[in-house]
Amino acid sequence: MTNAHRLILIGPQGSGKGTQGELLSVYLQIPTISTGELCRQATAGDTEEAKAIHAVMQSGALVSDELMFKLLRQRLEQIDAADGFILDGFPRNVAQAQAAIDWIKPSKVLVFDLDDNAAIARAAARRACSKCRFKTTANYVLTYGDVCPRCGASIVKRLDDDPVIVAKRLQSFHALTQPVIGFYAAAGLVARFDGSKKIPQVFAEIAEVL
Ligand code: AMP
Repeated sequence: MTNAHRLILIGPQGSGKGTQGELLSVYLQIPTISTGELCRQATAGDTEEAKAIHAVMQSGALVSDELMFKLLRQRLEQIDAADGFILDGFPRNVAQAQAAIDWIKPSKVLVFDLDDNAAIARAAARRACSKCRFKTTANYVLTYGDVCPRCGASIVKRLDDDPVIVAKRLQSFHALTQPVIGFYAAAGLVARFDGSKKIPQVFAEIAEVL
């Protein structure tokens, strides 16, 4: 357990952290846990909590730390996370990083750098399957239509990839999440990558530092 990979991925939207997380999951045989995905799943159903989470996410703000801890703890208790995990989207602020230091015990923090203009352009172009989360681009939909090649459901644009919401999420990234990098850098855990490079190249660089 002590040698297990407990990776944290940090970067703005569009920086490739989700894609690298999926590749790393296959490479290391451990799950990638996206806290954005956990929040999206928590918006299903007709409960007050589900509606409240939906409203917060649509505004581009962060859900409360308490709620995030609850959702993440439930996920980390599942058996597939026992031998390591890759966290995409957590921690998002220094309070979360501090509170989680004992139970996450990160082995490494991978930071993906991307400037705001590139992040906005990439978020505007991305599309995903509404059911299985297959990831693709607006160009793919223009060329092949909006039927997911993996499961047949429809490919959609994520609500929070709207340009106004993306701008708010970037603000939140700079104000709240960037200080988290300093927090882990002080512990010598950070490795940085250029998120504008091609996916295989970034992956190769990550594999070298693991
Ligand atoms: P993401 O897909 O990681 O960009 O997350 C989508 C949304 O989920 C965010 O804009 C937040 O509203 C919520 N969220 C994801 N991770 C966290 C977190 N660690 N703390 C609070 N809110 C989060």
